[in-house]
Amino acid sequence: MPEHTPIAELTTEWKEYFSGFSAGTHDLVRELAGRHCEALATVFYEKMLENATAQAFLSHDQVRERLHASMQQWILAIFNCQGEKEIGEAITHQVTIGQVHARISVPVHLVLRGSRHLKDAFISHIGASPRTTPEEKSAAIRLAVGTIDLAMEVMSHAYSTFHDRNSKAKEGYRLFSLTQNIASERERQRSSLLDWENQLMFGHAVGLGEHQITDIRASEFGLWFSHKGAHAFEGTSEVNTILDTMDRIDTALLPALLAARDDRDTYIARLRELRDQVRAVTYHLDRLFEQNNELESGRDVLTRLLNRKFLPVVLTRQVAHCNRHGQQFALLAIDVDHFKQINDTHGHEAGDAVLQQLAVLLINQCRGGDYLFRLGGEEFLVLMVDIDGKSAAHRAEELREAIARESFSAGTDGHLRVTVSIGLALFDGHPDYQRQLSRADDALYRAKNGGRNQVAIDGG
Ligand code: GH3
Ligand code: MG
Ligand code: MG
Repeated sequence: MPEHTPIAELTTEWKEYFSGFSAGTHDLVRELAGRHCEALATVFYEKMLENATAQAFLSHDQVRERLHASMQQWILAIFNCQGEKEIGEAITHQVTIGQVHARISVPVHLVLRGSRHLKDAFISHIGASPRTTPEEKSAAIRLAVGTIDLAMEVMSHAYSTFHDRNSKAKEGYRLFSLTQNIASERERQRSSLLDWENQLMFGHAVGLGEHQITDIRASEFGLWFSHKGAHAFEGTSEVNTILDTMDRIDTALLPALLAARDDRDTYIARLRELRDQVRAVTYHLDRLFEQNNELESGRDVLTRLLNRKFLPVVLTRQVAHCNRHGQQFALLAIDVDHFKQINDTHGHEAGDAVLQQLAVLLINQCRGGDYLFRLGGEEFLVLMVDIDGKSAAHRAEELREAIARESFSAGTDGHLRVTVSIGLALFDGHPDYQRQLSRADDALYRAKNGGRNQVAIDGG
């Protein structure tokens, strides 16, 4: 940074801005900055420390020891830079500050809040300065505020550039850490967990003491999970379950096991409990690997159809392709009729089985080039590639009939009939795919209102 605004360009901009003010105004502002920089820094941090979010970033000690002094330096530096070289240095310094803020994730609004208080305080000092005409005061205020804003602008740019790059890298790493040999990672971690359990059992069998037995958190597995697994699978409920279970093992189950050594029955009961908890960790770990494998590949866990993740990518590409080659494509919004009743009558599991069977049927009915999405719940989307309106309508009708004919398995409840309503919208050249999705949805709505188990065509 600044990637699009090199330092030299910014320097010229700053210089031009500064040249709009008289030497007298510069002197006044510089003089006030020098005289009040300590008070300004104090006000700045006092105001910031009133804010709960800011407190997390600025402990009082830190402020006293380091930040107060660098704040004063900062004030002096931005109001004292005159020549090209000094201005360039000041700008480079703002870039560094922005990057630091990004690295430690100081929220942008806090920085802006700080800048607001600083400007307020500076304006008061200007207002109170003796032997100065109102015109001089007004110019000084403009210069002081403008200078702080210039610095903020550079800082914010550096912040966002760094932050964006960092998030991309983070996401990249997350995907990388997940998809790189996910199968072998899973096996390795499973066996490392088993190793820990075996060592524990062995340690107990030969009568090792408390300090010779490794906690699960400190084991190979525990370290991997806390530092890598938890990060790679961030945001899933299993992560917390595993962390909590490991804590329970270390803080409650292991001590209880040691304490029960001389009482055979209790000891065995504790051992069982421990083994169950380790099994629970294995179970959740497996689920994490399974789910994320599916999620990362953009597939829905239940039906293995595509999930929403790649919908924008696929549709954008399809729109561009069709506009380039003068082709058309069709979107079929499909929703199962009265699905809630199926759940209510036969249970959620039977409902899930119906969705799976329906997905298989859709796959069989569609061509290899078509895309099948499960958008959520009992809603599906079929993208039929390279097709005209007449064929799309024909195939939508075939699809509806095939589903209505199919005998769906409802587990122990035998078999049942399922129907769907379909809304069809054909590509009309509009570059925003969201419009076509909405047209398909509107058509689906009409199919539902028209009595369900039917196809409604947009514009038809
Ligand atoms: P309509 O004909 O108007 O579409 O009626 P409907 O009952 O199909 O529609 P509604 O939106 O009222 O109900 C959808 C139901 O789908 C409610 C929800 O419990 C159920 N559902 C959503 N996701 C799943 C799932 O993954 N599995 C199962 N078994 N049921 C689900
Ligand atoms: Mg629905
Ligand atoms: Mg429905």
